[in-house]
Amino acid sequence: MEAVTATDVGRTYGETVALSGVSLAVSEGEVFALVGPNGAGKTTLVRALTGTTDSEGQVELFGVPPRQVPRERIGLLPQDFGPPDRLTPRELVDYYGGLYDDSLPTGEVLDLVGVADSADSYYENLSGGQQRRTCVATALVNDPDLLVLDEPTTGVDPAGRRRLWSVLEERAAAGTTILLTTHDMAEAERLADRVGFLAGGELVSVDTPARLIARHGGESLLHVEGAIPDGLARDLPFPATVTDGRLTVRDVSPADIADVTAVLEAGDVAYDSLTWREPDLEDVYLELTGQTLSEGGVSG
Ligand code: ADP
Repeated sequence: MEAVTATDVGRTYGETVALSGVSLAVSEGEVFALVGPNGAGKTTLVRALTGTTDSEGQVELFGVPPRQVPRERIGLLPQDFGPPDRLTPRELVDYYGGLYDDSLPTGEVLDLVGVADSADSYYENLSGGQQRRTCVATALVNDPDLLVLDEPTTGVDPAGRRRLWSVLEERAAAGTTILLTTHDMAEAERLADRVGFLAGGELVSVDTPARLIARHGGESLLHVEGAIPDGLARDLPFPATVTDGRLTVRDVSPADIADVTAVLEAGDVAYDSLTWREPDLEDVYLELTGQTLSEGGVSG
């Protein structure tokens, strides 16, 4: 069964078309990441899917309109969620847990997201990462079937982010459907079964990370730095160019690298360094959005 189905969803704010013709299905148990530049429509789509904004088109969660789903089945972390400064993680999770007939024990949830040690500190005195993890805890406390997280790891340091990743991986392994937005391509690649790219309010591509990379990521590249003679490119059994002494070889697998170094050694060519890089989801992002990652920026 589908956890989420959206058909031709649109939303305009005055003259601004925030979303247009978005259709999407997320299966139960799937982890789906929405990515795209600031202003692409991610938050608007999350809000349309969860019934927290009106939209054109049709949305169903577990086969019924979002506002008819029993609320304990959904865990939602809005992007701008800001709890009161003078509450502690324990009080916050207690409060959110109290909204449901059935919820997980507060201590267990705080432990899960790694804020147990700061459970009794004021929210305002937590680090950015602890704050965001506390917010995620409030979305987890009802043990939802569908977890919707708008930028769960923005502002979280690398260790805290890894911690959150394992929390989400555990939830996913237990069968929770997860829909998240992120600016972090490593996060999308690691967590998501499928990734949807939003640009200008439209879903421009949806697929598994591997298939997106194969289709839009370009080739693997081998760079050899040094004083490489121009003619060397012709001796290689791969497409290659030499520019200012730097050799670039395209479409080489790791197993082929030895063939390249053999040619360098046969020609008695010394080199300073050799780097090989496989295309990843960042390359897909750049290709599909026509943007650099720094332009894409990280909000919040
Ligand atoms: P993202 O989450 O990808 O950064 P948003 O969904 O926040 O994108 O925004 C998509 C577009 O809709 C942007 O142009 C934004 O300025 C506009 N927008 C979003 N929310 C509102 C609102 N409440 N009022 C007016 N314009 C809005």
